[in-house]
Parts: sequence; structure tokens; C-alpha cells
Amino acid sequence: QTFEDFKLNKQILNAIKDLEYTEPTEIQKLAIPLVQAGHDLFGIAQTGTGKTAAFVLPLLMKIKYAQGNDPRALIFAPTRELVMQIADNIEKLSKYTDIRQVTLYGGVGPKTQIENIQKGADIIVATPGRFMDIYKRGDINTRQLKTLVLDEADKMMDMGFMPQIRQLLEIIPRKRQNLLFSATMPEKVLTLSEEFLEFPEKVEV
Ligand code: AMP
Repeated sequence: QTFEDFKLNKQILNAIKDLEYTEPTEIQKLAIPLVQAGHDLFGIAQTGTGKTAAFVLPLLMKIKYAQGNDPRALIFAPTRELVMQIADNIEKLSKYTDIRQVTLYGGVGPKTQIENIQKGADIIVATPGRFMDIYKRGDINTRQLKTLVLDEADKMMDMGFMPQIRQLLEIIPRKRQNLLFSATMPEKVLTLSEEFLEFPEKVEV
């Protein structure tokens, strides 16, 4: 299996070439076709396996290009560092597209982040706490959200983000694709997966 076997467009294939990824990693081979087929996904994978591109690549294909002002995909990660890592992946893989992303995380004032949202975003990458803060001010419209990703779900549960995730599930449209990634599968993550995913496909590397 090569990157050409996935339904990726020229812009994305060129970005992959620039990154010198010669072939998809195991998690990418397993996950990308399932995500492209529209399934919810439960992915068990550690950092270092290429799991970020496994959800970013099909997500970029689903979004294709900048459109309107409201975000169409929302990616949650437990820490600011991880949010920035995911955003860096998205930036590199989307560099030949006009897709706009905004990052939201704590530890800095919300002003610039709110201004960035107001300029229009296709993808939001966020920590749950800061997302909910900005959402509650009325600065994020969730009606166009079609994809929701929870990355490092085990760490999110350890950090006590379950209440925010539950709140979140209430404010975004029901008809959406859900992707859940976790390095480990403790009881709390299984509970989360039951609330979050619908008829998921499971992949493990
Ligand atoms: P991740 O597990 O998503 O944190 O990715 C770990 C590292 O692998 C990152 O530096 C990625 O840029 C890199 N990577 C992702 N996919 C591939 C690939 N198919 N070939 C080579 N490197 C990759």
C-alpha cells in the first residue's frame, strides 16, 4: 500500500513528498481507508506511530478547501504541547491547500485566539478547557461540525476532561464522524468510547 492508493489529491500528495514520507505507516494503512469510508474509529496507537497523519490526511480530504466561517472539524488534545504538534502536522500536510486552522489552548490570553476564530476557521485544534471557555462567550459556531477527533484519550481521562467532553457532545451536531485515539485502553477510555463512538471500527498497532 502506498500513499497513491488512498484517495488523496495532488496538493496533499505533494506535501507528503516534501515531508519525505516514502510509505504509509501501519496505523495509516489501517486507519485511512476506514476513515475515508466514513466510519467512526477507535485507534489504539502510541505517539511515534504516525497516528496524527492517520487522522489528518483523511480529514484534509474531507474538508478539501476553505469554506465559510464556521469550523467543520474539531480536534481535541489534552495539552497545549500536543495541540501545537497536531497543528504543525496539519500545517505541513495542508500547505498546498487554502484550509485554515486555529489553535486554542490555555496559559495565554484568549484575545488573539478569539480574533483568529472570527477571521474564519475550517479546523480547530484545542484543549477542552479553553475551547469551552471560548464557546461559552459565543465566539464559536458548531453547526457545521462534521468531524470530531479526540487524541490521547487516555491522557484526557487522567487529566479529568470527561465533564468537558460530555458538555461538548451536547453542543455539537449529532450527525458527525468521530475518531478516538488512545495509547492505552483503560476502563475510562472504554466508557468514553461507548458514549462518543457509533458502530466504530477498531484498529490497533
Ligand atoms: P506521530 O505518531 O503522529 O506523533 O508521528 C511521529 C513522527 O512520524 C512525526 O514526526 C511524523 O512527521 C512522522 N511520520 C508520520 N507519518 C510518516 C510516514 N508515513 N513516514 C515517515 N514518517 C512519518
